[in-house]
Amino acid sequence: MKMRIDIMTIFTNMCESVLRESIVGRAIKEKLVKIKCHDIRDFAYDKHKRVDDSTYGPGMGMLMKAEPIYLCFEDICKQIKKEESFENQHPQKVIYMSPQGATLTQQKAKMLAEEDNLIILCGHYEGVDERVLEEIVEEEISIGDYVLTGGELPALVLVDAIVRMIPGVLSSDECYKDESHYSGLLEYPQYTKPSLWHNKKVPDVLLSGNHEKIKTWKKEQSMLRTLRKRPDIFKDYNFSAEEKEFINGQKK
Ligand code: SAM
Repeated sequence: MKMRIDIMTIFTNMCESVLRESIVGRAIKEKLVKIKCHDIRDFAYDKHKRVDDSTYGPGMGMLMKAEPIYLCFEDICKQIKKEESFENQHPQKVIYMSPQGATLTQQKAKMLAEEDNLIILCGHYEGVDERVLEEIVEEEISIGDYVLTGGELPALVLVDAIVRMIPGVLSSDECYKDESHYSGLLEYPQYTKPSLWHNKKVPDVLLSGNHEKIKTWKKEQSMLRTLRKRPDIFKDYNFSAEEKEFINGQKK
């Protein structure tokens, strides 16, 4: 097993149903990653199994209580320690999915794919009692500047972005290295059969069989697309002298 991810949530079914599908589901079946969803409610020991309560101070809404989350976290740590293959690892890297966190990027997902284990906390209601965040959370990650109802969808986005970069999950590393954002550029346009559709032809170079020319075309198209669609990331890319010359030629 290469990696273990534990998700703390009050909607385990929602997470598990997504995790069963597609590439992540296959990676779990092939034991390239172990993902466990833990119901925070199992650690709410009052008679109504309440995981939320009203906030202190004036204000609307409910907040997730600290104690059930903390007990759930402790239980995960115990489970991780018990499993032989993880006994020397540090299970305490907890990520809280939050609209207040740093926005998720491909680079961040790549770094997290190198961890042995991660624990992800999904909030709900108005969020989570600040004290448990201070106690266990190392990092807050957002999936964008908008507010969702709960941390489950963001957690699933994060897990998907990480798992596809675990070695062996995709057929080759090239699959994700060629994709948008990995190198700092967007991916070139792609085509499949037939070569002529609605009077639109696949670019000749792609049918030429000349691998060197195709490689150059792909790089040029990546640069042009990024310039056109995402000038904000284009300006941060580290171009070689040759690439700069090509771009300047296009701008003339
Ligand atoms: N009151 C919080 C605030 O204004 O910062 C928002 C709470 S939100 C309704 C409930 C939960 O959804 C959060 O605790 C967080 O786990 C999750 N969440 C919402 N939007 C998110 C986003 N953009 N990225 C990551 N998690 C998000």
